[in-house]
Amino acid sequence: MKLNEIIEYDKKYFMNVFGERTKVCFERGSGINLWDTDGKMYYDFFAGIAVSALGHSHPKLVATIKDQAEKFLHCSNIYYIESQALLAKALVENSCADRVFFSNSGAEANEGAIKLARIFFKKKGISDKYEIITLNNSFHGRTMATLSATGQEKYQKNFVPLLERIVHVPINDLEKLKGAVNEKTCAVMLELVQGESGVHMLTQEYLEGVRKVCDDNGILLIFDEVQTGMGRTGKLFAYQHYNVEPDIFTLAKALAGGIPIGALLAKEHVASAFEPGDHGSTFGGNPFACACALCVMEVMLNDGAVENSERMGKYFVDKLNGLKTSGNLVKEVRGIGLMIAIELSEPKAKQIKSDLLEAGYLIGNVGDNILRILPPLIIKKEHIDGFVDCLSRGEKAWLTT
Ligand code: PLP
Repeated sequence: MKLNEIIEYDKKYFMNVFGERTKVCFERGSGINLWDTDGKMYYDFFAGIAVSALGHSHPKLVATIKDQAEKFLHCSNIYYIESQALLAKALVENSCADRVFFSNSGAEANEGAIKLARIFFKKKGISDKYEIITLNNSFHGRTMATLSATGQEKYQKNFVPLLERIVHVPINDLEKLKGAVNEKTCAVMLELVQGESGVHMLTQEYLEGVRKVCDDNGILLIFDEVQTGMGRTGKLFAYQHYNVEPDIFTLAKALAGGIPIGALLAKEHVASAFEPGDHGSTFGGNPFACACALCVMEVMLNDGAVENSERMGKYFVDKLNGLKTSGNLVKEVRGIGLMIAIELSEPKAKQIKSDLLEAGYLIGNVGDNILRILPPLIIKKEHIDGFVDCLSRGEKAWLTT
């Protein structure tokens, strides 16, 4: 199909939640590259918002997909599922969690985390501990509970009334968090690196402080690792940078390298609050998604994707910091692993994103001042060099127009 025809159908038949989309439609991909319907090649520095961690059409993932599709795709969770059991084992053996539940998305995994936190206290006979503290500018999803947890009014305002008793506090301000705790608080839910709002990290001191506040007050600590998990920050899970363990954490995005899946993970004493009938899913944990996630886990653990994320992330941030001396377009570079934001000194993010697209590079933006970069974890130095050269070449024009 021609791009114009696709756009026409989209505008006529699809609900207009994505507004004016970028006028490109991809047809195929390989490694870090994507090709559009006109045959133009792009370097993918966005990975479908931190999803395509192994790049596109990774041969091992393609083989797994073919193999599982030929066997069978789906069966109900009323039966035992081999790939689900193996994936649960792999996640538990490589994390601080003892048990896993699989959903289909990040929001659903977070929804499960909120339910688990509430039921944990209910099962102890404490019925009035249900309040959750999250951070300003956080992003936890689009379902009603996760929208309520998301600390951004622009997403919430048309959907009030929201889930009651979710309060928001500023990032890295322990006193404000302590002030928000009361006898009804059941959990604190945090992104370790806020991605959607432009790569803002929690400090070590803050996270250690939050863990202590939770321990001192008998409150559960939930990490939303939907975006930071699965090697994105240079470790398999971002909490491993801090040496601070959560009671519950969630994954999605990169977990199956592009096949929809989410995961809710918890320590045994918390996970056991879920008993038969308390939670469930038709699609969650299906044989196909779990086989794909298992393949992604194996590649991440055995083929060096996580180490590559750490190494290439440092290289990338150093190179971007180098641009600070050549001009003054780059105000600040924030990054951990391959989760990177460039804060600009001028509101040119949309123009730069569009010019880079023209030049064959896919990136994201947060508002007018921040470029957002989330390449596949298999990225190589030569790709980064090409991107930084392109950014450097455009700098003068962006500063004067
Ligand atoms: N949590 C975080 C930290 C996210 O970045 C996102 C998506 O961007 C979500 C939750 C929601 O995930 P999903 O879009 O898969 O529901």
